[in-house]
Amino acid sequence: MYPYVSLNEEDISSIVGTHSELRAVIKSSLVDFKALTMVNVRINRNDKIDYSFPCQGCFDMLNKLGFKDVYFSTKSGNFQRVFFSSLSSFIA
Ligand SMILES: [Zn+2]
Repeated sequence: MYPYVSLNEEDISSIVGTHSELRAVIKSSLVDFKALTMVNVRINRNDKIDYSFPCQGCFDMLNKLGFKDVYFSTKSGNFQRVFFSSLSSFIA
């Protein structure tokens, strides 16, 4: 299991439940994720959109399942996109 780390580098694994990415995969009941897009949004305790880049474990899982890309929210309330296919040359 990968540790869940806050932006302040604190290990917060003990206070975090199942990560949203894994929960979405399980709840979808799909078996083929090829070419799908994952959208990950974090709403913080102040009801503001916050940083939601997947942790290393979820990132690897989404890539291995064949997702095309992932959108994640930023602290400024925008979204950024990562294409998994563009990373293939960096992943063993
Ligand atoms: Zn995660």
